[in-house]
Amino acid sequence: MTATTELPGQPHIHYSVDQLHVEGLPLSPLACEHGTPLFVYSKAAMLSALDAYHRGFAGRQAQICYAMKANSSLAILQVFAEAGCGFDIVSGGELARVLAAGGDPAKVIFSGVGKTRHEMKQALQVGIACFNVESEAELDVLSEVAKGMGKVAPVSLRVNPNVDPKTHPYISTGLKGNKFGIAHEDTLRAYRHAASLPGLKVVGIDCHIGSQITETTPYLDAMDRVLDLVADIEAAGIPIHHIDFGGGLGINYNGDTPPQADALWAQLLAKLDTRGYGQRQLMIEPGRSLVGNAGVCLTEVLYLKPGEQKNFCIVDAAMNDLPRPAMYQAFHQIVPVKPSAGQDAVYDVVGPVCESGDWIGHDRQLQVKAGDVLAVLSAGAYCMSMASNYNTRGRAAEVLVDGTQAHLIRQRESAFDTFALEQLV
Ligand SMILES: *Cc1c(COP(=O)(O)O)cnc(C)c1O
Repeated sequence: MTATTELPGQPHIHYSVDQLHVEGLPLSPLACEHGTPLFVYSKAAMLSALDAYHRGFAGRQAQICYAMKANSSLAILQVFAEAGCGFDIVSGGELARVLAAGGDPAKVIFSGVGKTRHEMKQALQVGIACFNVESEAELDVLSEVAKGMGKVAPVSLRVNPNVDPKTHPYISTGLKGNKFGIAHEDTLRAYRHAASLPGLKVVGIDCHIGSQITETTPYLDAMDRVLDLVADIEAAGIPIHHIDFGGGLGINYNGDTPPQADALWAQLLAKLDTRGYGQRQLMIEPGRSLVGNAGVCLTEVLYLKPGEQKNFCIVDAAMNDLPRPAMYQAFHQIVPVKPSAGQDAVYDVVGPVCESGDWIGHDRQLQVKAGDVLAVLSAGAYCMSMASNYNTRGRAAEVLVDGTQAHLIRQRESAFDTFALEQLV
């Protein structure tokens, strides 16, 4: 038996023998074979994250709709579709991905403040489960579009419970100043309006208060607020078939200790039971918590650039591959794939993009030399799905590991791919 060292909060990613592994595969050979930057995902880590939700909902009527904007690569969607998940989509493009990955449109819910008529038609055509409507104006347009097609659109209203999820302002969505959802005090009026429209059928209610939430209290508070509304809406004669509590559960990036999904839901279900809603059809929309800690991004050290104030470790991944640090000052752990005989120092780990905002980690103690491969951890969510071609950098390749099998699930984009749709005049 060889000793393995698990990384905290990163199940299925561990040091064994001389290097970092994802499940049964050492990462150096993967970096050699496919090049860097390279995203590597663990299928087992995704399924075990999903399992925690399944354990939490045992004996209940609950549908898990993976919020695919976290990572929308087709093979990732396929893993969740095969495990019985539905999908929470935010665009017609995401719907096309669900269909291409073999997902069931009858388990799709469509969120977002700015659905176009064209996207509504697309979704009505394939028969999605529910539109999560975010404004009264959207209700009118959706009814008109559905009527024009001779269809009735199933709707739920996204309500804004006005609770503070205590997370980064850019990923906090359930407060009054946010663009999302319908204000608590306008909800009953909006439901009456929805129920009066010929092209709509009210089926549910939903909320989503933010992302990377690491405490239980905001969820409990939001649930109370939503259940108060359910009682009012049903008292007005409008039945609410399902209750959707959104996503948002955080992961461990830097010693964060979010509740496990099953522990969180034990508390939430106890509240639902107490208030008499325990046997309702439930829905949730987790994204980050299903994939975030299932992925790493491998990147090669290009140059060390010692300086008077800062030492820079320049790597071949950049803000176009890993946008979270530049966008939200987010922290990702950065670890060596193998021990190195390099220079032990404190570095700013930065990419090649021509922006000072192009950094991956500040003030990291690392022993590195040019040519080493580093792993940026917790890179499964909101990395590849937010990647761009800025600086005409082709997007990275992706590998899905299943035991000792590596599947290339996305080829590296070439420069030609990045301008293939352009034309000279
Ligand atoms: C982004 C989003 C989610 C998923 O959020 P996570 O923090 O990734 O779990 C769920 N529902 C809606 C409406 C969203 O916009």
